[in-house]
Amino acid sequence: MRIDELFGRVRPTISFEFYPTQNAAGAETLFQTIHQLQALKPDFISITRTGGGTQQTLELTLRIQRELGIRTMSHLTCLHHNQEEMHAHLETLWDGGVRNVLALRGDPENGQLVFKAPKNGFAYANELAGFVAARHDFCIGVAGYPEGHPQCLNPTRDIETLKAKIDAGARFIITQLFFDNTDFFRWRDACRAAGITVPILAGVIPIENVAQIKRFVTRCGAKIPQELLLTLEAVEADPAAVYDVGIGHAIAQCQELLAEGTEGLHFYTLNKSKATAHICAELSR
Ligand SMILES: Cc1cc2nc3c(=O)[nH]c(=O)nc-3n(C[C@H](O)[C@H](O)[C@H](O)COP(=O)(O)OP(=O)(O)OC[C@H]3O[C@@H](n4cnc5c(N)ncnc54)[C@H](O)[C@@H]3O)c2cc1C
Repeated sequence: MRIDELFGRVRPTISFEFYPTQNAAGAETLFQTIHQLQALKPDFISITRTGGGTQQTLELTLRIQRELGIRTMSHLTCLHHNQEEMHAHLETLWDGGVRNVLALRGDPENGQLVFKAPKNGFAYANELAGFVAARHDFCIGVAGYPEGHPQCLNPTRDIETLKAKIDAGARFIITQLFFDNTDFFRWRDACRAAGITVPILAGVIPIENVAQIKRFVTRCGAKIPQELLLTLEAVEADPAAVYDVGIGHAIAQCQELLAEGTEGLHFYTLNKSKATAHICAELSR
């Protein structure tokens, strides 16, 4: 069940991202959340390689695919494996029937500022994408940054490195979260002008907590538009009001993205179902 089978047939694609939990109780709750969101018929589900270990990502990916029958994608990062380990990991994914992977560099861990590739590993995601493509016929996705990757100060160079990932074998792009569609449209035009023709799926996050979203944007180099930020801060102490503002923004953002021909919406669910279900219900009206 490859993701690229959908392109050209299903427009736009809808996908949900989850992260593996550390313990068995959390894993069960998460599985129930995914089960609830299945009612929305997502085109695919993606499982991050964050927090826990690669094994947790693998197990959750395989379980969703096996028990829920949904097209599933496993995130891979350069952070955690040398080439030999990555080779073994890819074999396990392939033998387990997984056909979709997101090839990422990963962020430095343990408070380090600079990414350090493992010995005999990969320094950048394009190297990992090329390695994956040379092994099996996975459908490979890669990350894109409408506001630029925080470690790249040259937007043209950033798009060149994105193109290198496509040239290495990637079939589609999922973007970092963003809140201002103008940034996305400008960047998408620049990608197309640079010869990047693969589908670009927009990363959308429903804001439900002001302190949490501020932490996220600081980490990933995105910005919250001033007007939205002021509105959120004015109701920060009232969770229901924050939810309404956050969801209202996400719905309007998605409606505009769809009206402008965006090929897919990828929801960062933060392992919760309510907000994503709410947005999807509004979009399908
Ligand atoms: C949809 C999505 C899902 C994500 N999921 C995860 C996850 O599961 N786990 C996780 O740890 N992180 C995840 N991330 C975060 C991601 O790992 C970080 O943003 C990371 O800092 C960059 O990853 P990348 O794959 O874009 O790296 P790269 O494409 O390798 O780019 C990293 C930086 O290096 C530059 N660069 C790239 N190639 C070269 C080159 N050949 N020479 C010189 N400079 C170069 C780029 O311009 C950029 O500044 C995700 C991000 C997105 C958008």
